[in-house]
Amino acid sequence: MNIILMGLPGAGKGTQASEIIKKYPIPHISTGDMFRAAIKNGTELGKKAKSFMDNGELVPDEVTIGIVRERLLESDAVKGFLLDGFPRTVEQAKALNEIMAEQGRKIEAVINIEVQEEELMNRLTGRRICETCGTTYHLVFNPPKVEGICDIDGGKLYQREDDNPETVRNRLDVNIKQTQPLLDFYSKEGVLNNIDGSKDIKDVTIDVEQILTNL
Ligand code: ADP
Ligand code: ADP
Repeated sequence: MNIILMGLPGAGKGTQASEIIKKYPIPHISTGDMFRAAIKNGTELGKKAKSFMDNGELVPDEVTIGIVRERLLESDAVKGFLLDGFPRTVEQAKALNEIMAEQGRKIEAVINIEVQEEELMNRLTGRRICETCGTTYHLVFNPPKVEGICDIDGGKLYQREDDNPETVRNRLDVNIKQTQPLLDFYSKEGVLNNIDGSKDIKDVTIDVEQILTNL
């Protein structure tokens, strides 16, 4: 299963990915998570990515494509993967097709989670994440049982630095610009599935699963 989760920032990609990987034995590969880990660990990659991420801009294609290529060659990704946040440009999508072709594989489904822009601002500014296990919550739409504490492991919840209103605005603008050409690309490839991401988290999961079981 070679699957891509698409959607603007805040659409629910990460939230749905964590549900999918409970049922399917494929790794969840998030370029945003990979960049954040690199920044935390002070690596060269982190240094390259940080200023772009702080401003809500895209990290340059050559950097992003390079890390995805390496990641997809790792043993756990050989039987399939769930890509979250990649590709975000047509250039990246073309590069991904080449990587797949080199391995005799192809993308089976692109699941595009659609949510109105106004709603995305609310989702992103209210997002909170567990610092130990990475589980995502929302102050209003998906609150933890105890404020500021992860239900699963008791870890402290934090807010991502780029989830402030100003950076969110720019991330939405940057991503909206890139999205339509990317949707056109996958529509032509015949693998695009649009789903309504404005429903409750559980109902969106049902729609995602329906697509996956029909593959
Ligand atoms: P993405 O990975 O696409 O940026 P996330 O999965 O991190 O998005 O979700 C963004 C925020 O919105 C999180 O706080 C999450 O809890 C919340 N969220 C996700 N899906 C829904 C939904 N269907 N309804 C309401 N809130 C949601
Ligand atoms: P979101 O929650 O907004 O969907 P991500 O965690 O996926 O955000 O990404 C955070 C940041 O990492 C982006 O704003 C961008 O700077 C960088 N990034 C992630 N994926 C990509 C990509 N495919 N191409 C370029 N930059 C990326």
